[in-house]
Amino acid sequence: MVGIKGRVILMKEVKTIAVIGLGLIGGSILKGLKGKGFEALGIARRNETIIQALSEKIINEGSINIDLACKADLIFVCTPINKTIETINLLSSKVKPETIITDVASLKGNILDFINASQHPVKFIGGHPMAGTENKGLDASSENLFEGAKWVLTPSKGSNQEDLIKLSSVIEKLGAKIIIADPVLHDKAVALISHMPLFLSQSLFGTVENYSEKDISALALTLASSGFRDMTRLAATNPELSKDMLIQNKENVVAAVKELKKYLGELEQKLVKNEENFVKTIEKIAFQRKQMYSSEGKNIL
Ligand code: NAP
Repeated sequence: MVGIKGRVILMKEVKTIAVIGLGLIGGSILKGLKGKGFEALGIARRNETIIQALSEKIINEGSINIDLACKADLIFVCTPINKTIETINLLSSKVKPETIITDVASLKGNILDFINASQHPVKFIGGHPMAGTENKGLDASSENLFEGAKWVLTPSKGSNQEDLIKLSSVIEKLGAKIIIADPVLHDKAVALISHMPLFLSQSLFGTVENYSEKDISALALTLASSGFRDMTRLAATNPELSKDMLIQNKENVVAAVKELKKYLGELEQKLVKNEENFVKTIEKIAFQRKQMYSSEGKNIL
């Protein structure tokens, strides 16, 4: 893992940016870059989305035809995960050789494997902003979504240091912090902090809903307040995204859940058999959790 520092290289700057997929993430990139000196092009699946983006003045030009993106110096592919490879493949035979392509998909391994084996070498750098919400679409996007967030970059063999610097300088304008990571390690790590919590949140909701004593289940759902709401927020994730993340990262999610079950069993045993040890464990967890986030909820590690 390396941060990018000390850049004193003269290079052609990124002037035109294209975003393909104007949803939560694509819309937030455009809103965050609005007024920062870029010409912005937007490509969506539906015309209504283009009309909305033009009326919100977050793009200078829009189309449902991907060819518009080929005018850009930098292209962000922000389609659903299962359309990302198809979209990059379509772009790779059309873009100028100097155009940098990046994406925002929550999984990186398959995409990087595909790009590195492609017949059409492109300047591709995989990306994954570590920010989001359970909502979808342009209406859910916001200009400060990436403020203070980590943004993972996974370079491919067709990209170089100069491309990485150009892309990073744009992402940093969104207030995000770059983390360079290996795509395989990235997918294992996000299984732990993103996909397992999603699975756990769904399981928690399902457990209470399907609790064996129906009258208690009904009362519990009536009484449920902020704790249950916070713990099950992820269960409301856009189902298309949720399905893609869990199914495409299944192997890593299953490995993480296996460790979770082991840990749950150990903690349960401490609670039942050794209260002193149980209390020490949860005190340590509470301390470590407080060290990780600031009072505004930002990750300070
Ligand atoms: P989203 O809100 O559903 O947006 C996806 C957008 O893609 C939609 O607005 C849709 O356009 C458009 N689209 C669908 N198919 C397309 C196609 N073939 N060509 C062009 N546009 C197409 O989803 P999202 O949450 O932004 O997710 C997009 C990507 O961000 C995914 O790869 C996801 O893994 C990644 N990501 C998401 C989060 C999160 O928390 N949501 C966090 C980090 C990364 P229309 O409006 O025209 O239908």
